Amino acid sequence: MIIDLRSDTVTKPTKGMLEAMLTAEVGDDVYKEDPSINALEKRLADMFGMDEALFFPSGSMANQAALKLHTNPGEQVICDKYAHIYNYEGGGASFNSGISCKLIDGHRGMFTAEQAEASINPPDFYHSPLTSLIAIENTTNKGGGACWDFQELKKIKKVANKHQLGYHLDGARLWNALIAKDENTKQYGELFDTISVCLSKGLGCPMGSVLIGNKELMQGALRIRKILGGGMRQVGFAAAAGLYALDHHLERLAEDHKKAKEIGEELSKMSAVKVVEPIETNIVIFELNDNIDETQFLNKLNEKHIKIIVMGSNKLRMVTHLDYTDQMHDKLLSSLKDF
Ligand SMILES: *Cc1c(COP(=O)(O)O)cnc(C)c1O
Repeated sequence: MIIDLRSDTVTKPTKGMLEAMLTAEVGDDVYKEDPSINALEKRLADMFGMDEALFFPSGSMANQAALKLHTNPGEQVICDKYAHIYNYEGGGASFNSGISCKLIDGHRGMFTAEQAEASINPPDFYHSPLTSLIAIENTTNKGGGACWDFQELKKIKKVANKHQLGYHLDGARLWNALIAKDENTKQYGELFDTISVCLSKGLGCPMGSVLIGNKELMQGALRIRKILGGGMRQVGFAAAAGLYALDHHLERLAEDHKKAKEIGEELSKMSAVKVVEPIETNIVIFELNDNIDETQFLNKLNEKHIKIIVMGSNKLRMVTHLDYTDQMHDKLLSSLKDF
Protein backbone atom coordinates (compact mmCIF):
# COMPACT_ATOMS: atom_id res chain seq x y z
CA MET A 1 0.00 0.00 0.00
CA ILE A 2 1.50 3.30 -1.12
CA ILE A 3 0.30 6.39 0.70
CA ASP A 4 0.61 9.16 -1.84
CA LEU A 5 0.11 12.59 -0.28
CA ARG A 6 2.10 14.60 -2.81
CA SER A 7 -0.99 16.22 -4.24
CA ASP A 8 -4.76 15.92 -4.57
CA THR A 9 -4.16 15.43 -8.30
CA VAL A 10 -2.96 11.82 -7.91
CA THR A 11 -6.49 10.40 -7.65
CA LYS A 12 -7.90 7.93 -10.15
CA PRO A 13 -11.51 7.95 -11.35
CA THR A 14 -13.85 6.00 -9.12
CA LYS A 15 -16.03 3.22 -10.46
CA GLY A 16 -19.06 5.50 -10.54
CA MET A 17 -17.12 8.17 -12.36
CA LEU A 18 -15.81 5.70 -14.94
CA GLU A 19 -19.35 4.46 -15.45
CA ALA A 20 -20.54 8.01 -16.07
CA MET A 21 -17.69 8.55 -18.54
CA LEU A 22 -18.39 5.31 -20.40
CA THR A 23 -22.00 6.20 -20.99
CA ALA A 24 -21.43 9.90 -21.80
CA GLU A 25 -23.08 11.39 -24.82
CA VAL A 26 -20.42 13.19 -26.83
CA GLY A 27 -19.91 15.32 -29.93
CA ASP A 28 -17.30 17.62 -31.42
CA ASP A 29 -16.72 20.34 -28.85
CA VAL A 30 -14.75 22.52 -31.27
CA TYR A 31 -18.12 22.93 -33.02
CA LYS A 32 -19.69 23.29 -29.54
CA GLU A 33 -21.66 20.11 -30.30
CA ASP A 34 -20.72 18.05 -27.28
CA PRO A 35 -23.87 17.70 -25.14
CA SER A 36 -21.97 16.65 -22.01
CA ILE A 37 -19.58 19.59 -22.25
CA ASN A 38 -22.47 21.94 -22.92
CA ALA A 39 -24.29 20.57 -19.87
CA LEU A 40 -21.24 20.95 -17.64
CA GLU A 41 -20.58 24.50 -18.82
CA LYS A 42 -24.21 25.47 -18.31
CA ARG A 43 -24.31 23.88 -14.88
CA LEU A 44 -21.22 25.75 -13.70
CA ALA A 45 -22.33 29.07 -15.18
CA ASP A 46 -25.67 28.66 -13.38
CA MET A 47 -24.03 27.58 -10.13
CA PHE A 48 -22.01 30.80 -10.07
CA GLY A 49 -24.84 32.92 -11.45
CA MET A 50 -22.66 33.98 -14.37
CA ASP A 51 -23.40 34.06 -18.10
CA GLU A 52 -20.89 31.63 -19.52
CA ALA A 53 -18.44 28.88 -18.77
CA LEU A 54 -15.79 27.26 -20.94
CA PHE A 55 -14.06 23.93 -20.43
CA PHE A 56 -10.25 23.79 -20.52
CA PRO A 57 -7.87 20.83 -20.39
CA SER A 58 -5.98 22.29 -17.41
CA GLY A 59 -6.22 24.93 -14.72
CA SER A 60 -3.10 26.60 -16.02
CA MET A 61 -4.70 27.07 -19.42
CA ALA A 62 -7.90 28.45 -17.91
CA ASN A 63 -5.90 30.96 -15.85
CA GLN A 64 -3.73 31.88 -18.81
CA ALA A 65 -6.80 32.50 -20.95
CA ALA A 66 -8.20 34.72 -18.19
CA LEU A 67 -4.99 36.76 -18.02
CA LYS A 68 -5.18 37.23 -21.78
CA LEU A 69 -8.85 38.25 -21.64
CA HIS A 70 -8.15 40.93 -19.05
CA THR A 71 -4.90 42.44 -20.34
CA ASN A 72 -2.92 43.82 -23.28
CA PRO A 73 0.81 43.24 -23.78
CA GLY A 74 2.95 45.44 -21.56
CA GLU A 75 0.36 45.65 -18.81
CA GLN A 76 0.58 44.31 -15.29
CA VAL A 77 -1.37 41.97 -13.04
CA ILE A 78 -1.30 42.34 -9.26
CA CYS A 79 -0.99 39.06 -7.38
CA ASP A 80 0.55 37.58 -4.28
CA LYS A 81 4.18 36.43 -4.35
CA TYR A 82 2.93 32.86 -3.79
CA ALA A 83 0.46 32.97 -6.71
CA HIS A 84 0.20 29.92 -8.94
CA ILE A 85 -0.08 32.18 -12.01
CA TYR A 86 3.34 33.61 -11.13
CA ASN A 87 5.16 30.57 -9.72
CA TYR A 88 3.76 27.48 -11.37
CA GLU A 89 2.52 28.28 -14.86
CA GLY A 90 5.88 28.20 -16.57
CA GLY A 91 6.14 31.95 -17.00
CA GLY A 92 2.96 31.85 -19.06
CA ALA A 93 1.89 35.37 -18.06
CA SER A 94 4.82 36.82 -19.99
CA PHE A 95 4.89 34.12 -22.69
CA ASN A 96 1.20 34.18 -23.58
CA SER A 97 0.05 37.66 -22.65
CA GLY A 98 3.25 39.71 -22.60
CA ILE A 99 2.42 41.00 -19.13
CA SER A 100 4.34 41.27 -15.88
CA CYS A 101 3.27 40.44 -12.35
CA LYS A 102 3.42 42.95 -9.51
CA LEU A 103 3.95 40.77 -6.47
CA ILE A 104 2.44 41.56 -3.12
CA ASP A 105 4.29 40.39 -0.03
CA GLY A 106 1.20 38.88 1.53
CA HIS A 107 0.52 36.39 4.28
CA ARG A 108 0.06 32.75 3.24
CA GLY A 109 -0.77 33.85 -0.31
CA MET A 110 -3.31 36.45 0.78
CA PHE A 111 -3.14 40.24 0.93
CA THR A 112 -5.26 43.20 1.99
CA ALA A 113 -7.22 45.75 0.00
CA GLU A 114 -4.73 48.41 1.17
CA GLN A 115 -1.82 46.37 -0.21
CA ALA A 116 -3.68 45.87 -3.49
CA GLU A 117 -4.41 49.57 -3.86
CA ALA A 118 -0.81 50.52 -3.03
CA SER A 119 0.38 48.20 -5.83
CA ILE A 120 -1.52 49.97 -8.59
CA ASN A 121 0.67 52.06 -10.86
CA PRO A 122 -0.73 55.54 -11.55
CA PRO A 123 -2.31 55.22 -15.02
CA ASP A 124 -0.95 58.58 -16.20
CA PHE A 125 2.62 57.72 -15.24
CA TYR A 126 3.56 56.17 -18.57
CA HIS A 127 6.99 55.04 -17.33
CA SER A 128 5.51 52.13 -15.43
CA PRO A 129 3.36 49.27 -16.72
CA LEU A 130 -0.36 49.91 -16.81
CA THR A 131 -2.10 47.93 -14.07
CA SER A 132 -5.13 46.14 -15.48
CA LEU A 133 -5.95 43.18 -13.27
CA ILE A 134 -6.01 41.90 -9.70
CA ALA A 135 -5.74 38.12 -9.35
CA ILE A 136 -6.73 36.21 -6.22
CA GLU A 137 -6.15 32.54 -5.38
CA ASN A 138 -8.58 30.71 -3.07
CA THR A 139 -7.62 28.43 -1.46
CA THR A 140 -3.96 29.35 -1.70
CA ASN A 141 -1.76 26.49 -2.83
CA LYS A 142 1.72 27.62 -1.70
CA GLY A 143 -0.02 29.29 1.26
CA GLY A 144 -1.04 25.88 2.59
CA GLY A 145 -4.70 25.73 1.59
CA ALA A 146 -5.54 28.96 3.41
CA CYS A 147 -8.97 30.50 2.79
CA TRP A 148 -9.55 34.19 2.19
CA ASP A 149 -11.75 36.29 4.41
CA PHE A 150 -14.73 37.07 2.17
CA GLN A 151 -15.02 40.61 3.57
CA GLU A 152 -11.47 41.33 2.39
CA LEU A 153 -12.33 40.01 -1.08
CA LYS A 154 -15.23 42.47 -1.14
CA LYS A 155 -12.94 45.35 -0.17
CA ILE A 156 -10.53 44.38 -2.95
CA LYS A 157 -13.45 44.34 -5.38
CA LYS A 158 -14.13 47.97 -4.44
CA VAL A 159 -10.50 48.82 -5.18
CA ALA A 160 -10.76 47.05 -8.53
CA ASN A 161 -13.94 48.96 -9.39
CA LYS A 162 -12.53 52.30 -8.31
CA HIS A 163 -9.49 51.87 -10.57
CA GLN A 164 -11.32 50.01 -13.33
CA LEU A 165 -9.30 46.84 -12.97
CA GLY A 166 -10.36 43.31 -13.79
CA TYR A 167 -10.84 40.87 -10.92
CA HIS A 168 -9.88 37.22 -11.49
CA LEU A 169 -10.15 34.31 -9.10
CA ASP A 170 -7.90 31.29 -9.49
CA GLY A 171 -10.31 28.93 -7.80
CA ALA A 172 -8.46 25.69 -8.50
CA ARG A 173 -9.40 24.69 -4.95
CA LEU A 174 -12.34 27.06 -4.44
CA TRP A 175 -14.44 23.94 -3.68
CA ASN A 176 -12.37 23.36 -0.56
CA ALA A 177 -12.86 26.95 0.58
CA LEU A 178 -16.64 26.74 0.04
CA ILE A 179 -16.87 23.62 2.19
CA ALA A 180 -14.47 24.85 4.87
CA LYS A 181 -16.05 28.29 5.23
CA ASP A 182 -19.63 27.36 4.42
CA GLU A 183 -19.71 29.82 1.52
CA ASN A 184 -21.50 29.45 -1.80
CA THR A 185 -20.71 29.76 -5.48
CA LYS A 186 -23.17 32.61 -6.09
CA GLN A 187 -21.40 35.01 -3.73
CA TYR A 188 -18.17 34.42 -5.65
CA GLY A 189 -19.92 34.82 -8.99
CA GLU A 190 -21.21 38.21 -7.90
CA LEU A 191 -17.76 39.40 -6.95
CA PHE A 192 -15.39 38.29 -9.69
CA ASP A 193 -15.23 39.00 -13.43
CA THR A 194 -13.71 35.59 -14.14
CA ILE A 195 -13.29 32.45 -12.05
CA SER A 196 -11.33 29.32 -12.89
CA VAL A 197 -12.16 26.09 -11.07
CA CYS A 198 -10.39 22.72 -11.27
CA LEU A 199 -12.16 19.39 -11.61
CA SER A 200 -8.91 17.45 -11.34
CA LYS A 201 -7.96 18.34 -7.77
CA GLY A 202 -10.22 17.60 -4.81
CA LEU A 203 -13.11 16.61 -7.06
CA GLY A 204 -11.08 13.69 -8.37
CA CYS A 205 -11.53 13.97 -12.15
CA PRO A 206 -8.75 12.85 -14.47
CA MET A 207 -8.64 16.23 -16.19
CA GLY A 208 -10.33 19.54 -16.73
CA SER A 209 -10.88 23.05 -15.51
CA VAL A 210 -13.59 25.52 -16.29
CA LEU A 211 -13.37 29.28 -16.76
CA ILE A 212 -16.55 31.08 -15.78
CA GLY A 213 -17.36 34.70 -16.54
CA ASN A 214 -19.76 37.23 -17.90
CA LYS A 215 -20.68 37.50 -21.55
CA GLU A 216 -18.67 40.55 -22.50
CA LEU A 217 -15.35 39.18 -21.30
CA MET A 218 -16.00 35.59 -22.30
CA GLN A 219 -16.60 36.54 -25.93
CA GLY A 220 -12.88 36.25 -26.58
CA ALA A 221 -12.39 33.09 -24.55
CA LEU A 222 -13.15 30.60 -27.29
CA ARG A 223 -10.60 32.14 -29.64
CA ILE A 224 -7.92 32.29 -26.93
CA ARG A 225 -8.55 28.66 -26.01
CA LYS A 226 -8.12 27.75 -29.68
CA ILE A 227 -4.86 29.72 -29.90
CA LEU A 228 -3.52 28.03 -26.78
CA GLY A 229 -4.31 24.65 -28.34
CA GLY A 230 -7.09 23.83 -25.94
CA GLY A 231 -9.90 23.13 -28.40
CA MET A 232 -10.70 19.45 -28.08
CA ARG A 233 -13.15 17.11 -29.79
CA GLN A 234 -15.25 14.45 -27.99
CA VAL A 235 -14.22 15.75 -24.63
CA GLY A 236 -17.64 15.09 -23.13
CA PHE A 237 -16.09 11.98 -21.58
CA ALA A 238 -14.21 14.36 -19.29
CA ALA A 239 -17.29 16.53 -18.75
CA ALA A 240 -19.24 13.46 -17.62
CA ALA A 241 -16.58 12.92 -14.96
CA GLY A 242 -16.98 16.56 -13.91
CA LEU A 243 -20.77 16.34 -13.68
CA TYR A 244 -20.45 13.15 -11.66
CA ALA A 245 -17.93 14.79 -9.33
CA LEU A 246 -20.17 17.81 -8.71
CA ASP A 247 -22.89 15.40 -7.59
CA HIS A 248 -20.77 13.01 -5.54
CA HIS A 249 -17.43 14.48 -4.52
CA LEU A 250 -18.15 17.97 -3.30
CA GLU A 251 -19.56 17.46 0.20
CA ARG A 252 -17.00 14.80 1.01
CA LEU A 253 -14.17 17.37 0.90
CA ALA A 254 -14.93 17.92 4.59
CA GLU A 255 -13.44 14.45 5.17
CA ASP A 256 -10.18 15.48 3.51
CA HIS A 257 -10.09 18.55 5.71
CA LYS A 258 -10.65 16.53 8.87
CA LYS A 259 -7.89 14.09 7.96
CA ALA A 260 -5.50 16.95 7.17
CA LYS A 261 -6.13 18.45 10.61
CA GLU A 262 -5.46 15.10 12.27
CA ILE A 263 -2.19 14.74 10.35
CA GLY A 264 -1.22 18.24 11.48
CA GLU A 265 -1.90 17.38 15.11
CA GLU A 266 0.32 14.31 14.89
CA LEU A 267 3.09 16.20 13.07
CA SER A 268 3.16 18.95 15.66
CA LYS A 269 3.92 16.34 18.34
CA MET A 270 7.02 15.13 16.47
CA SER A 271 10.42 16.25 17.69
CA ALA A 272 11.68 16.51 14.08
CA VAL A 273 9.03 19.08 13.22
CA LYS A 274 9.61 22.75 13.96
CA VAL A 275 6.25 24.16 12.93
CA VAL A 276 3.02 23.11 11.24
CA GLU A 277 1.19 25.88 9.42
CA PRO A 278 -2.49 26.37 10.36
CA ILE A 279 -4.66 23.83 8.54
CA GLU A 280 -7.94 25.06 7.09
CA THR A 281 -8.51 22.67 4.21
CA ASN A 282 -6.70 19.67 2.68
CA ILE A 283 -3.12 20.98 2.56
CA VAL A 284 -0.60 20.48 5.34
CA ILE A 285 2.64 22.46 5.16
CA PHE A 286 5.27 21.96 7.82
CA GLU A 287 8.88 22.77 8.52
CA LEU A 288 11.56 20.50 9.93
CA ASN A 289 13.86 21.45 12.76
CA ASP A 290 17.19 22.84 11.59
CA ASN A 291 19.11 19.78 12.78
CA ILE A 292 16.94 17.40 10.70
CA ASP A 293 18.13 16.47 7.22
CA GLU A 294 15.27 16.82 4.76
CA THR A 295 16.48 14.07 2.43
CA GLN A 296 16.89 11.64 5.30
CA PHE A 297 13.43 12.49 6.55
CA LEU A 298 11.92 11.89 3.11
CA ASN A 299 13.83 8.62 2.71
CA LYS A 300 12.53 7.39 6.01
CA LEU A 301 8.97 8.17 4.94
CA ASN A 302 9.64 6.46 1.62
CA GLU A 303 10.67 3.28 3.43
CA LYS A 304 7.21 3.35 4.97
CA HIS A 305 5.71 3.84 1.48
CA ILE A 306 4.66 7.39 2.27
CA LYS A 307 5.17 9.96 -0.47
CA ILE A 308 5.14 13.70 0.17
CA ILE A 309 6.75 16.68 -1.60
CA VAL A 310 9.22 19.44 -0.78
CA MET A 311 8.15 23.05 -1.23
CA GLY A 312 11.59 24.67 -0.87
CA SER A 313 12.91 26.71 2.09
CA ASN A 314 12.80 23.61 4.29
CA LYS A 315 9.05 23.26 3.91
CA LEU A 316 7.29 19.98 3.18
CA ARG A 317 3.74 19.40 1.99
CA MET A 318 1.08 16.72 2.35
CA VAL A 319 -2.29 16.91 0.62
CA THR A 320 -5.27 14.72 1.49
CA HIS A 321 -7.67 13.55 -1.22
CA LEU A 322 -10.33 11.14 -2.45
CA ASP A 323 -7.94 8.19 -2.77
CA TYR A 324 -6.45 8.66 0.69
CA THR A 325 -8.50 6.07 2.55
CA ASP A 326 -9.30 5.66 6.26
CA GLN A 327 -6.98 2.67 6.31
CA MET A 328 -4.12 4.75 4.88
CA HIS A 329 -4.89 7.49 7.35
CA ASP A 330 -4.63 5.11 10.33
CA LYS A 331 -1.37 3.75 8.99
CA LEU A 332 0.04 7.22 8.40
CA LEU A 333 -0.86 8.46 11.86
CA SER A 334 0.72 5.43 13.52
CA SER A 335 3.83 5.76 11.32
CA LEU A 336 4.22 9.36 12.42
CA LYS A 337 3.70 8.34 16.04
CA ASP A 338 6.55 5.81 15.92
CA PHE A 339 8.77 7.93 13.69
C1 LIG B 1 -3.36 23.14 -9.61
C2 LIG B 1 -3.55 24.58 -9.67
C3 LIG B 1 -3.83 25.24 -10.86
C4 LIG B 1 -3.94 24.56 -12.19
O1 LIG B 1 -3.07 23.57 -12.40
P1 LIG B 1 -3.09 22.57 -13.63
O2 LIG B 1 -2.12 21.55 -13.16
O3 LIG B 1 -2.64 23.31 -14.81
O4 LIG B 1 -4.47 22.03 -13.80
C5 LIG B 1 -4.05 26.59 -10.81
N1 LIG B 1 -4.00 27.26 -9.65
C6 LIG B 1 -3.76 26.67 -8.49
C7 LIG B 1 -3.76 27.46 -7.24
C8 LIG B 1 -3.50 25.31 -8.44
O5 LIG B 1 -3.26 24.72 -7.27
